Amino acid sequence: MEIYLDNAATTKISDEVLEEMLPYLKEFYGNASSVYSIGKKSKEAITLSRDLIAKKLNCKSKEIFFTSGGSEADNWAIKGSKLKSKHIISTPIEHEAVLETLDYMKSQGYEIEFLDVDKDGIVKIGSLKEKLRDDTALVSVMYANNEIGTIQPIEEIGEILKNTDTLFHVDAVQALGAIKIDLKKLNVDMMSFSAHKIHGPKGVGALYIKDGTKINSLINGGSQERNKRAGTENVAGIVGFAKAVEIAQENVAERNKEIRNLRDNLLRELLKIDGVYLNGSIEKRLPGNINVSIDGIDSNILLMNLDMEGVMASIGSACNSGSINPSYVLKVIGRDDTLSKNSLRLTLNEENSQEQISQASAIIIESINSLR
Ligand SMILES: *Cc1c(COP(=O)(O)O)cnc(C)c1O
Repeated sequence: MEIYLDNAATTKISDEVLEEMLPYLKEFYGNASSVYSIGKKSKEAITLSRDLIAKKLNCKSKEIFFTSGGSEADNWAIKGSKLKSKHIISTPIEHEAVLETLDYMKSQGYEIEFLDVDKDGIVKIGSLKEKLRDDTALVSVMYANNEIGTIQPIEEIGEILKNTDTLFHVDAVQALGAIKIDLKKLNVDMMSFSAHKIHGPKGVGALYIKDGTKINSLINGGSQERNKRAGTENVAGIVGFAKAVEIAQENVAERNKEIRNLRDNLLRELLKIDGVYLNGSIEKRLPGNINVSIDGIDSNILLMNLDMEGVMASIGSACNSGSINPSYVLKVIGRDDTLSKNSLRLTLNEENSQEQISQASAIIIESINSLR
């Protein structure tokens, strides 16, 4: 038996996505820059994919730039965009792809300020109003957190930045698929996406760059992606990504309802155990996310026990697994070192059944009890 509850780390590629991709891995292997027919076929596939993604996200095709995934998109937005000053605002709960890039920016003389985050894991709008300056060049805030699933007030922040010339970047890697994204409604200049978090292939994603936003290329070379991102295109990946975005943006409310129902059933059982605490807001939260701290156990051992029973889960972000460092996100929301270390993240999606959830619940409860 295998119960996969780590969909925030990555998702299983869907059959529909794989079907779309296969011809571009087999027959149509041409380089999109070549003049003969299989080359043109690749080029056409990229164009159609870009058009489809733009239509589904409600933006212009020329505003979608394909990348190798979410990390590259985050790096590009921050390192590449032409900043008017050295002042950048972000949050202390961003994904490492943003935090480490900001660290690099700091080493290049930039001043990085972090917004306050409340105990529910939500950025304080008041803190943005305090820290925003006339010369602030960039604000980077994630749409939804990868560890605790909390949803940030992106629309409100966009409103505040609307009549300024401060750039606004949003890492929407976890949000896509759970929150319907309409780029015309959001006042965002750049937004990062990744395919493998939405049942697409690994190693492909995109950066939305609003028309008129000035940005340098991060990867120099050929003239792909309108001279902005060199490298022979990952044609099959792009085709799969487009299909995944199409599916992700459909039936969002119904899918969420189903997932939230499963999540709440599992969460209810876990919270019955003494010394189990939910991390982050329950209302402003991705429908599939559970993140709890557990008294009196070692999370790494719990994860190994769960794995032996076929339950695949994680501590927080995938990148932290195996390391004994407490989660920086949990520390920010006020958990002590022990509870920040001993957390369990369970991220569900529509492929999980109630039967799986009931089994997982029994296995987790038994494991916790046996470890104590
Ligand atoms: C997974 C993730 C990323 C990184 O995306 P990759 O495509 O794996 O590079 C960035 N930000 C968030 C919030 C993520 O969850």
